[in-house]
Amino acid sequence: MKFIIATNNAKKLVELERILKPLGIEAVSAKDAGVVLGEVEETGTTFLENAFIKANAAFEKTGMPAVADDSGICVDALGGRPGIFSARYSPEDCHTDEERTAKILEELQGVPDDKRGAHYTCAICCILPNGEKLEIEETCEGKIGYEFIGDGGFGYDPIFYYGDRTFAQVSAEEKDKVSHRGKALRRLQEELQKHFG
Ligand code: IMP
Repeated sequence: MKFIIATNNAKKLVELERILKPLGIEAVSAKDAGVVLGEVEETGTTFLENAFIKANAAFEKTGMPAVADDSGICVDALGGRPGIFSARYSPEDCHTDEERTAKILEELQGVPDDKRGAHYTCAICCILPNGEKLEIEETCEGKIGYEFIGDGGFGYDPIFYYGDRTFAQVSAEEKDKVSHRGKALRRLQEELQKHFG
């Protein structure tokens, strides 16, 4: 059985390939499926709504079961911002991940240690062959630091502390064990196992 993965992000495709393969499911990109998904407008107000919008667009276009995810970082002292806007935070003055990350540090200037809580969220929506919708959401709690530390990971990782290290200081395997995405993908695997295992 083939599932279409509604993403243009090659890393996400590889991750999902790894999760789906043991279940006998082949992860197929839009390109492999010979369709152009284009930019789907993420008009949802939650991570799950946006994941559904992306998965459903792919399902409707191809008729294939589809998987999509949506993720981001929510900073307590900023009232949960940037949240679903993490990839497009403050577009008027930020154009790169680094600029968006620096923006958060700037906004948290003067915020004390005990008010620097934050979490990552990852939502996954899977539309099964019968049209049934599978929804998963996982979070990872941490804290925002005071400067960029570490050169691994991506996005906001250099300022996101999990314990006493940032996500940019740990290996991909260590991050996977506790991260929002790692947890969500493992749950997806469990759920799909129930259906196709
Ligand atoms: P998405 O591709 O629409 O899910 O965008 C997610 C955005 O949230 C990314 O561009 C990153 O800025 C941020 N983000 C999500 N997960 C992570 C993570 O594990 N580390 C760092 N940044 C993340």
